[in-house]
Order: sequence, then structure tokens, then C-alpha cells
Amino acid sequence: MGKLAVGLAVGVAVATSGIAAVMVGKRVSSRRKWRKVVRVLEELEQVCSTSVERLRQVVDAMAVEMHAGLASEGGSKLKMLLTFIHNLPTGDEQGTYYALVLGGTNFRVVRVRLGEEKSSILKRDVDRKPIPEHLMTSTSEELFDFIASSLKEFVEREENVVEVSQVKGRELGFTFSFPVKQLSVSSGTLIKWTKGFSIPDMVGKDVSACLQQAISRRGLDMRVAALVNDTVGTLALGHYHDEDTVVAVIIGTGTNACYLERADAIIKCQGLLTTSGGMVVNMEWGNFWSSHLPRTSYDIDLDGESPNSNDQGFEKMISGMYLGDIVRRVILRMSLESDIFGPVSSKLSEPFILRTPLMSAMHEDNSPDLREVANILSDVLGICEVPLKVRKLVVNVCDVVTRRAARLAAAGIVGILKKIGRDGSGGITSGRSRGGTSIKMRRTVVAVEGGLYTSYALFREYLNEAVAEILGDDISPYVTLKVMEDGSGIGAALLAASHSAPSVDTVQLL
Ligand code: ADP
Ligand code: MG
Repeated sequence: MGKLAVGLAVGVAVATSGIAAVMVGKRVSSRRKWRKVVRVLEELEQVCSTSVERLRQVVDAMAVEMHAGLASEGGSKLKMLLTFIHNLPTGDEQGTYYALVLGGTNFRVVRVRLGEEKSSILKRDVDRKPIPEHLMTSTSEELFDFIASSLKEFVEREENVVEVSQVKGRELGFTFSFPVKQLSVSSGTLIKWTKGFSIPDMVGKDVSACLQQAISRRGLDMRVAALVNDTVGTLALGHYHDEDTVVAVIIGTGTNACYLERADAIIKCQGLLTTSGGMVVNMEWGNFWSSHLPRTSYDIDLDGESPNSNDQGFEKMISGMYLGDIVRRVILRMSLESDIFGPVSSKLSEPFILRTPLMSAMHEDNSPDLREVANILSDVLGICEVPLKVRKLVVNVCDVVTRRAARLAAAGIVGILKKIGRDGSGGITSGRSRGGTSIKMRRTVVAVEGGLYTSYALFREYLNEAVAEILGDDISPYVTLKVMEDGSGIGAALLAASHSAPSVDTVQLL
């Protein structure tokens, strides 16, 4: 081999080993970056872990907080609000009833026709309308005049000539999903507006009276027979169909629960007399807090940046408003720690850009190459051309966040069952002597409403599975979760039926 040839060969060899060294270096660095993001996921998994032991601690904490909230006003983060509803619909109600649902930017008018047969709903009609934005910050008179006009139009459209004679003295259930201090089953004062509403002259006023006056101004013959929270409507619909329904939970944009409590357990209102000995209590459980809740740095940041910091801690881990944003925060952290998502997308820093239905679409993407995940990452978050293994990582993040949410909601439900002695453990301070004998288990139905539970199959499966896991094989067959589609509306109409004029409101404060 000539000198030139030797020189060339050496040169090529050096160059090749240089390239190889760069490639090895790149591989090492990309492996290191991959390890970094995997560590982010592992940490998340670890902090979000919801072993059955931990869930049982949450169950106990929920039951303890319920006791505290019932013992004294302000005794717990759980408000445990009295609803003055002591009798739930039984299925024997008959006639035509109305409901109005106001809880956000849309409102609904509902009409149900109940049949003679037990628990039959012959017909239901619903009309949905957005509230014009300017009315959300106007005066109470303007807002309620608009609502009453829409109600009147609906009534006139739905009641055909034949029916008019039958529908005398119409009764209305009003589902008003804002914090209210209830004064009776059909009246209560607004504590504060939320969800974008701000009509200062309404605060402290009787919500039903405002609506009733607007209805009269429109010349409509209709009485506000019940003022209820959406969870209470759901419980009412559940009870109408099945009298073993004593708990209702809403898991949609927000989350809340109510249940039927013994009147004598409501210590903060000792003078309460009811005919049935029971009273529905609106827990406002979104504000539940316990040191046993598995909280991550993402939850802390989300809470700190929210307009209601330190409030609604349970809701912020569970409900549809927040789950997508927790996932966004994790992906942002991963993207900052490594370039596996490419350059950090500015969209990743936009709060609430990843909405929960999109998150569930990624989580439930069954395509072999996770096409939907890739599409959402690129269309919504501006992260393009993500390799398959990174898409899988994103699915894992969704899974951890949703699984934790669903399992915590399950623990909350079992907490309520424990409080009312339906979890098979005998309750924590039932005060009754059981004489050491085993208690006969009663069948219990939990009514559930809300888009997160009904539209997100994996969330629903995780929740159902965790309820069974916490209760154990012996007890879980006695507990059933049942979806109550539009319980907040139909249930309010049913409560109007069971509290209609001829029936006497027997709750009184001594
Ligand atoms: P609201 O709670 O506002 O009264 P819904 O009960 O219909 O209304 O719940 C709507 C919420 O449910 C949405 O804000 C969203 O968080 C969640 N949701 C709806 N559809 C889905 C879905 N396919 N996957 C996951 N979450 C969903
Ligand atoms: Mg709702």
C-alpha cells in the first residue's frame, strides 16, 4: 500500500470513528433524556399512588369530616348544608311538572309527565338556551325576566290545547347551582355568585322569590315549589326509580354529593323536626380536604394559580374542569426536562388549553400507532411528530391522573356509606349498640350524574372497580352505582311534584 493510500485509510478510519463517537454520544444523551422523562412519570405514579390502604384512610377522613360538619357550623371544610328535603319522590307522584336549571352559561327548562304506573315518566321535554353574556353581570330583575320569558314561551309551546285544562296550578322545581343558604324547601338566599356571574343586588336575596316575582310579571301561573341543588335533583330522580337510593354524586365539570341523613344526627340543628326523621344534606364535598389525599407539585401549582386558591381541593383532583390541566402540567415538565417533545411549545404554558374530553380521547385511543394522541398533541398543544414511545408516555400520564381521580371519588362515596352505616363496618360513631351481632346489610344505590362519569369509560371503570375493592367481596354486591341522566333537571321536577301544593311542608325550626 502506497503512502497516499495509507494516509487515506487512516483519515477515513479517524473520520469514521469520529462519526461513531458522535452517534454514540447522541444515543447516550438521548437515552439520558428519555430516562429523565421516565423519571417524571415514575415520580408522578409514586405520589399519585392510591393503594387500598390509602383509600381507606380517605374513607375514614371523609366520614370524620362529615361528622364535624354536622356537629357545628364551620366545623369542617365540608359545609354539610341542610336542604329541608325530608321526603324524596317515591314513584307514586302523578301529573305534569316543570323544572328550571340554572348552573352555568346555559340554562334548561324541563317538563315531565308522570304516569299512573309506579315510577313512570311518560314524557320529558327539554329546552336548552344560553344566557346572554350581558345578563350574567346585569341586575337580578333583567336576568330573571329573561328566564321567566323563556319559561313562558316553553310552557305555551309544550302545552297543547287539549292539555291546558289539565295543567292547572303548575309547579316548578328550581335547580340553582350556586351557594345558597336554604331557608325552607322552596326558599333560600344567595351566598355568592360563581362561574362568571356577578349580579351584586342578588346576593343575600331569596332566589325563589326573585324567580317567582318574574314569573308573575310575565303573567304565568306557576309556583316555585322546590329550590334545589343539582345533586339533590339527582338523588330525587334516583329515589323515584328505586327507594334504596340514598346517596347522589355529581362528577362533571365540578363534583359534589348529597345523601339522606338521620335528622337526629344533624347536631348543629337540634331543633329540626321532620316527619320522616330524615333530611337530605348537601355536602359540598368538592371542598373536602385531608392530609391523606395524594397531592403532587402539579396540584399545588394548579391550586396556587387558580382564582379560588385553598378552596375545592378535592374537586381540583377529581373533576372534569381540572384533569386535563393536570396532564398539561406534567407534559410541560417533561418537555422542559428533555427535548423529546421537540422545542418547548408555547401552547403548553396556556392554562386549561388541554380540556378533559381531549385528554380522555388520548387516554382511550385504541389505534396501534396512537394516531389520536399524535393529532391532539399537534393540533392542541403544538407538539408535532412525536415518536410512538413518547405518545405511549402521554397515555400513561393520562392514566395516572384519571385513575387517581376516579379512585379518590370512589373513596369519597364509600366515606358517605361509612357515615350512614352502609359500608358493612358499622359506622364510626353510630351511637347504637349492635350487641356484637352482625348487622344485616341493606341494599344501597348511589345515583351518579355528570359528563366525566358518563362519557369517560376508563374513569367510570376505575371508579366502579375501586368502590368494589374498598368495600370487599362480601359488601360490594349490596352497593350499586346507577347513572341518572339529567337528574338535576328531572329530579327537580319530581321534587316539585312531591312538594306540590296539597302536600304539607312539615319541616319546622323550633
Ligand atoms: P356540568 O358538570 O357542567 O353540569 P356535565 O355533567 O355534562 O356538565 O359534565 C360536563 C363535563 O364532563 C365537561 O366539562 C368535561 O369535564 C366532562 N366530560 C364531558 N365529556 C367528556 C369526555 N368524553 N371525556 C372526559 N370528560 C368529559
Ligand atoms: Mg351538571
